[in-house]
Amino acid sequence: MNVWTKIENKLRAYASKRGYTCDSCQKEIFDYPYRRVCDACMRSLRRAERVCEKCGRETRADGICLTCKSHIPLFTQGFSPFVYYGDTASVINRVKNGNRRLAFFLGEEMAQTLMSALPDGNVLLIPVPLTKNRYKERGYNQAVELAHSIYAYLKKHNYSARLELNALEKTRESGEQKHLGFLDRAKNVLGVYHLSKRKILEEQTVVLVDDIMTTGATGSECARLIRGAGASAVYLLTAGALPEL
Ligand SMILES: [Zn+2]
Ligand SMILES: [Zn+2]
Repeated sequence: MNVWTKIENKLRAYASKRGYTCDSCQKEIFDYPYRRVCDACMRSLRRAERVCEKCGRETRADGICLTCKSHIPLFTQGFSPFVYYGDTASVINRVKNGNRRLAFFLGEEMAQTLMSALPDGNVLLIPVPLTKNRYKERGYNQAVELAHSIYAYLKKHNYSARLELNALEKTRESGEQKHLGFLDRAKNVLGVYHLSKRKILEEQTVVLVDDIMTTGATGSECARLIRGAGASAVYLLTAGALPEL
């Protein structure tokens, strides 16, 4: 038995005596190697079988979804590891409400999605910002937490990426968006974002990071600005995308 096998056996023995808890359901797991989320939780998260070629949401037919058909978004393409629906939506919402452990988990899943979608790397990650007031009030921006986790995972896997937290600013609140369609949301977000660093965006492959994509209007507006500063492509990477209804 070589030394590595011995070490591995010891670790297995250790893990089988003392578990650690699942970051989603808190149940104890005894598996080795370490995983953030247990099998049951992992299986319960919904992944799309067929996605829109443009925005990446789950669709009912091949091609482009109805939302993109009526208003094509201005980002190059969208990707999400999960479908924002039912229990999966509740898991993603917990990150919005401050659960950092789940942000680590979702960020790693997002990083894997990004690595298979854009295998060449060399991307600039930019999280979608909150307004300064909102950030002060909450002390937390879920998009920033996800971006940190994505970045750490990409580095660990030698994928070339940079993280820029201050390229975009949100200068005022966009108001309640929940029940609005793409056009109303697009109007709502028009002019609420501002570029504070234009030069660093020139000829870059930008990956916007956010927790969810509903209509895609926020991603589209941010992409409009970033492309205006000379970026060659702007992708939207979210933890979950609302399926075509
Ligand atoms: Zn679990
Ligand atoms: Zn679409």
